[in-house]
Amino acid sequence: MKPDVLVIGGGIMGCAVALELARAGVRVVVLERSVPGAEASSAAGGILGAQIEAHAPSPAFATSIESRALWERFARDLAERTSIDVGYRRCGVLRVAYDDAAVEAIEGEHGWQRDRGEPVERLSGERARALEPALAPEVAGGVRFADDARVDPPLLLRAVYVAAARAGAEFRSGSYVRRVAVEGGRAVGVELEDGTRLDAGAVVVAAGSWSALVGGVPLAEGAVRPARGQIVELLCSTPPLGSVVFGVGCYLVPRDDGRVLVGSTLEFVGWKREVTARAVRDLLDAALRLVPALASAQLGRTWSNFRPYAEGGPLIGATEVPGLLLATGHHRNGILLAPVTAQRVAAAVLAARA
Ligand SMILES: Cc1cc2nc3c(=O)[nH]c(=O)nc-3n(C[C@H](O)[C@H](O)[C@H](O)COP(=O)(O)OP(=O)(O)OC[C@H]3O[C@@H](n4cnc5c(N)ncnc54)[C@H](O)[C@@H]3O)c2cc1C
Repeated sequence: MKPDVLVIGGGIMGCAVALELARAGVRVVVLERSVPGAEASSAAGGILGAQIEAHAPSPAFATSIESRALWERFARDLAERTSIDVGYRRCGVLRVAYDDAAVEAIEGEHGWQRDRGEPVERLSGERARALEPALAPEVAGGVRFADDARVDPPLLLRAVYVAAARAGAEFRSGSYVRRVAVEGGRAVGVELEDGTRLDAGAVVVAAGSWSALVGGVPLAEGAVRPARGQIVELLCSTPPLGSVVFGVGCYLVPRDDGRVLVGSTLEFVGWKREVTARAVRDLLDAALRLVPALASAQLGRTWSNFRPYAEGGPLIGATEVPGLLLATGHHRNGILLAPVTAQRVAAAVLAARA
């Protein structure tokens, strides 16, 4: 039977949109060239950093706060549907520095958020170490965002995929979409790499950093670009931190089992899937300066992947082509923004059908 909606890409955006649509009774098929969660979404640090990621007032701030507020229910709903704990923890995020001038600069970057009603706690070095005793004596202070949180992306992707499939979404792995089929100015389906044509009432492009490469999508070349991020995983016998901590040159994301992710670079080098010696050295130098005890951690895995960067922010919802919607360009905050994006895209699909 012809699906109502075809979703191109099975990352967090494609899976979350599929879940939202399937729950609403929409027949949805996700076309993924690899397997769900193969790319950026499983590679993410998992910081739900509505405040840490906001360095100046902008309309996007309200959207980030809205999505962060949806997260607790989103995680609970996933656990109920799948029995998977996606590691959602309202752990707070610290941003710290090593001298008073840098602490002052951090306060200047984020202090405006108090006027928007969001908590920003100014930290002395002592207070920072009282919260996180493993921080270096050299830490001079910083700020704390008590409501920012974290989640475990590989578990999240597994849970959203399982939940969407259970709700009725169909996933076709190994389906490479060459182009969106447009007839009479309207999106009517897609064409796969092998020439197969699939028809649907609407098409959602959620192909991450590859979104502008899909034929027939009204995006200029380079409108969504890959911003590479590299991560080093350290293994500790017990978790050295509870909070996410941003230092100078790195951030640290703890997991309950003692892993600590050290992230991340931000590089515009195309789709080069590499982990470089320089990045590993710089990330580890920065991490060991911030938490000296990490020097005795075991080295775990390293990886890199591609944030979908769009100048001007995420591309969410309807396009100039009727029946064609976007859920892409979330850059550093796709995990944070998944719940709000899924809601908005599903609402746009349902509104067009009404
Ligand atoms: C190192 C790193 C750290 C990050 N840390 C965080 C963080 O802490 N917090 C946060 O909120 N965000 C973080 N992000 C960003 C976040 O991961 C992304 O914004 C988000 O995962 C994007 O999701 P997506 O579904 O758009 O893309 P992807 O996860 O890349 O999914 C796109 C999917 O589309 C498929 N696809 C592409 N082209 C086609 C095609 N033609 N046909 C069929 N399928 C196709 C791909 O195979 C892929 O599975 C991080 C990213 C990186 C790389």
